[in-house]
Order: sequence, then C-alpha cells, then structure tokens
Amino acid sequence: MKAALFYGGKDIRIEERPTPNPGPGEVLVEIRSAGICGSDLHNYRGNRQSVWENPWEQGHELSGVVSGLGDGVNNLSVGDRVGIEAEHLIGCGSCVQCRRGDYHICSRRGMVNGSRHASHGFSSHDVTFASNCFVLPDGVGFDQAALLDCYACGIHAVNRTAVTPTDTTVIVGAGAIAMTLGQVAKAYGAGRVIMVGTRVETLEVAVRSGAADEFIVNVCNDPVQDVLNLTGATGAEVVFETVGGESQIISQCMQMAGRGGTVSVVGLFTKPQIIDSQEYGMAKELRLTWSNSYSSWKGVSEYKSAIDMLGDGLLDANPIITHRFPQRNISEAFAAASDKKSSGAIRVIIDHCLP
Ligand SMILES: [Zn+2]
Ligand SMILES: [Zn+2]
Repeated sequence: MKAALFYGGKDIRIEERPTPNPGPGEVLVEIRSAGICGSDLHNYRGNRQSVWENPWEQGHELSGVVSGLGDGVNNLSVGDRVGIEAEHLIGCGSCVQCRRGDYHICSRRGMVNGSRHASHGFSSHDVTFASNCFVLPDGVGFDQAALLDCYACGIHAVNRTAVTPTDTTVIVGAGAIAMTLGQVAKAYGAGRVIMVGTRVETLEVAVRSGAADEFIVNVCNDPVQDVLNLTGATGAEVVFETVGGESQIISQCMQMAGRGGTVSVVGLFTKPQIIDSQEYGMAKELRLTWSNSYSSWKGVSEYKSAIDMLGDGLLDANPIITHRFPQRNISEAFAAASDKKSSGAIRVIIDHCLP
C-alpha cells in the first residue's frame, strides 16, 4: 500500500508499506477520498506536537471500498462502499458518558485496549472497526462521503442548540464546518441564516449551496453592528461560532446575540476566552453551549443521520469541495488547505482515484 507518512510539520512523504491485515471485528478499506480538516493543519503549521510516534498516518474524514474482512465480520461484504466514522472518536464503552451515547466526550476517547486509534484516510488503505463503517446509499459519492464527518459535527451542534423557523441564526466563519452547519441548520428548519466571513466568493457559495440566506463580509467593518442592523437592533436568537483559534471572538458573538439568545461554540479555541459575565451573562441572560465533534443523539448516530440527509438530497456537498488532489500531490493539497486566502479553498480533498 501507499502510506502517507507525516514526519512533522510540512514533511509528508508517500512510502510503500505492507498492507495491514484486519483483525477480529475489523475490515480493510481501500480509501477513495479524504478531506483535509482544520485539525489536520495544526501540526502542519507547527502549532501542535503530534501525540503519535514519528512518522504517523492521519485523515479522519474518509470513505472507501471494503476490500478485506476480519474474523466475525458479518454485516459488511467485500466491495461495499462505505463512509467511515473517525476512529479517534471511539469511546471506552463502559463509562457514564459512553453508556448514555456521548462517547465523543469519553475521557479515554480514541483508546482501544490501551492503544490509541485514529483513521488514516490519506493513505491508500486503512484497517478500521467494522462498527465504524456505514454503507453509502447509491446517490452518495465518495467525495461527498468525505464530508460526512463535517456534517455530523453540524448535526451535533444543531442537536445541542435548537433552531426554529422564526429565529435568526448567525454563523460566524465561512469554512467547511460553517457551510455544513448552515446546510444542516436550514434542513432542520432554521428560518433566516446569516453567515459572517471574510471572502465574498466563499460567502456566495454559502448562499448558492443553501448554507445561508444572507451574508456579511467582515473585512474591516464591524460585523456586530452589521448583525444589529440586519436584525432591527435586537440581535440574533442563535449565534454559532466556528472560527476558534487564537481569536477573542466569543465576546463578539455575545454582542451579536439578542437578549435571552444562545451562543453555540463549535470552533476550537487555543486561548482562554474573556467574557463579560455582567453584560452578557446577567443582563442579557445568554445561554452558552459547546459542541465537540459528534456521537449519538437520543440513541441515533449523528454520522448515520448525516448519511441519511445526504442520501435524501437535503444537503449539497459538491459546492463545498473546491479542490481535489491525487495522493502523490498531498503536499500541494495541504498547502492549498493551509492558505485558503490565496487558494480560495473551502474543502480540499485527497482523491485516491486521481492518477
Ligand atoms: Zn475534521
Ligand atoms: Zn467511555
């Protein structure tokens, strides 16, 4: 197999490695498509040390074809087209959180029998648990299925922060998570969705793909004032934050929210946030919710819900996938994903079918 090996930072090499054999309960998958997520870029940009031994494999937004079965696997067949729920989200199965279905917040998340697990979508093959594989409906292609992970994050966020037809919902950020979240929110009945971003072309994709009804271009103007102007000075009922990073943006989101509204944080912040508890907590009585990845909601898998919604045509992944690269050009793909301002990328995909 052709493994994509990460040696730290920008050093990514494609090397020939023996194809692994699936163990009991596992399957071998020939990967077809894998998305480059913002979290894949942390180490690439030198912002975070890897928890893995050097070199390591990665790629948790993936789809492929089952090409080998381990012992005891009887729910899948060789040749099945599958979306794969990211392996780093596997819970221990026995703690309080796991038993109520919230395995994404298990304190031993990603550990199975003492060893750390993750998906390897950037390599040509990956061994994964059969229970993480979901057969794709005919209408869902491999590239679209690589976005299931993002859609599931959106579904989780909307499950945790309900949207209604009469609410105004603001989404801060215009990346793949914002786009998928916007489409999910609309499908769940959100009335008016306003997206705040910095690039007009991307925001136009949001409106075209049904992720937003309107947008605010936040270049040097004040997006808080723009939101207030668009909401008759009352602010939005729901504000989703998808940017994270080093910004102090939760406070800004709280200014955009109306009294009694909700700020729902989806972005991953690397710095503590300072919040005016008097102004936003007491005076406006805002609700603050957090969304970390996804798992299940009321007993239903959020990843499976994403498949069903894609299969039913409620979501439109194609406009969000702006760039495709063959595996041999993975460095170019990461460069495009890392510098979206110059590449214009929303979601960059490694398409293993490209020569
Ligand atoms: Zn991701
Ligand atoms: Zn657990």
